Amino acid sequence: MDDRADIVIVGAGAAGLAAGIFAAEAARERGSSRIVVLDGAKKIGAKILISGGGRCNVTHEHVTHEDFNGSPHIVRNVLAAFGVEATRRWFASLGVELKREETGKLFPVTDQARTVLQALTTRCEALGATILLHHRVREIIPPADSSESSAFLVRHEQGTLAARRVILATGGRSLPKTGSDGGGWGMVRRLGHDVTPTYPALVPLVLHQDMFHAELSGVSQEVELTTQVNGRTVDRRRGSLLWTHFGISGPVVMDASRFWTRARGEGVAVEMRCHVLPDMNREAVDRWLKAEIAGKPRRAVAKLVASRTPDRFATALCRFIGIDPATLSGQVKREQRQALVQGLTSLPLPIERDRGWNYAEVTAGGVPLAEINFRTMESRKAPGLYLIGELLDCDGRIGGFNFQWAWATGYLAGRSAVAGLAATN
Ligand SMILES: Cc1cc2nc3c(=O)[nH]c(=O)nc-3n(C[C@H](O)[C@H](O)[C@H](O)COP(=O)(O)OP(=O)(O)OC[C@H]3O[C@@H](n4cnc5c(N)ncnc54)[C@H](O)[C@@H]3O)c2cc1C
Repeated sequence: MDDRADIVIVGAGAAGLAAGIFAAEAARERGSSRIVVLDGAKKIGAKILISGGGRCNVTHEHVTHEDFNGSPHIVRNVLAAFGVEATRRWFASLGVELKREETGKLFPVTDQARTVLQALTTRCEALGATILLHHRVREIIPPADSSESSAFLVRHEQGTLAARRVILATGGRSLPKTGSDGGGWGMVRRLGHDVTPTYPALVPLVLHQDMFHAELSGVSQEVELTTQVNGRTVDRRRGSLLWTHFGISGPVVMDASRFWTRARGEGVAVEMRCHVLPDMNREAVDRWLKAEIAGKPRRAVAKLVASRTPDRFATALCRFIGIDPATLSGQVKREQRQALVQGLTSLPLPIERDRGWNYAEVTAGGVPLAEINFRTMESRKAPGLYLIGELLDCDGRIGGFNFQWAWATGYLAGRSAVAGLAATN
């Protein structure tokens, strides 16, 4: 094949495919450009296909910068350029109808992630962009000088491609078997960028084997999780926690996990506590227990607790704090009641580790947002290079936010790369 292109996009995941489409559309408006998307994987879109449990949660009905961890000012600007409404319209133009679920998450009406992947690849190719799989990029050499005849050299496993603009969309480190193994950061470092330490995010957490999680496997309950680092609360959030055979998962745990993994990675003291009756404060829980004990002294204490928590949790918690679940409520001693209040409102979760990159949905950390121009996604270190998607130091909470980031950054980079080319022609 020809060894020159106008724009090379490295990575054909969500961000790279979006960039390919927007670049090809803009190029068509301005006259044609040769756009090539390279990906190291043998099959395209592995991560899109498994996303959202195989249904691909493409975005959320409400997306704001507060749904992300990343420089708020920059995230706000990126979302202002391409927000939820733009995403909805864009998917409609690709022939993908979206539906809203109760939680506000948007999915394709087919409930098939393949619908999304197919729409993206079909449009990309219909617009004339070339997608080459099995083309893992090993190195990007910047232009020798700033003259327009000078180009980036993109060295991949099958040869070298020269390009005037390069969009890097190699993703993070989550689920490395999909091809996103963090290799992109090595390349950007060599191009002068910094990369902040990276940690698994949206990842389940493994509890110490002495904890009671295994006997509750499959039980989920509404809780409030508080994460404290060096004694200071860094995150407090409410949602559904799922007890599993290894520890804890579920949306609230996944969302909170980045604070824990980061602190652990930095070697600082971190603890997570769980409030299982989040509508009541400590005093209210104590008053409630006292009233229930006084009102029904012959009821087993586990039954009392189970009137507001799942049965299996109530039994496990009683045992965990050393009370026989069958003890009559009226016989519960004051210290035992206090231990119950503590267990219900501030249960320490003995986290051993996170479940690792193979179970993380996203990466915290990456290229600092301050190193890109947020209006274009162009690198401030290497002009002509654009950085998008999970490669950047920005991670969203669960619910379609990470794909929204991929579409929005892909939009900006795709269009800006073409505009940059046109300006120099
Ligand atoms: C199990 C799971 C479920 C998820 N579900 C959702 C969801 O429902 N909603 C949501 O918003 N987010 C979800 N996410 C997160 C979302 O998938 C990612 O945030 C998003 O895919 C990131 O897009 P990206 O294009 O930046 O990177 P990626 O999708 O990771 O794509 C990077 C691409 O670059 C290629 N590549 C890497 N290095 C090279 C190289 N050196 N040369 C050539 N190619 C290279 C890879 O092969 C890959 O195709 C999920 C993630 C996982 C793991």
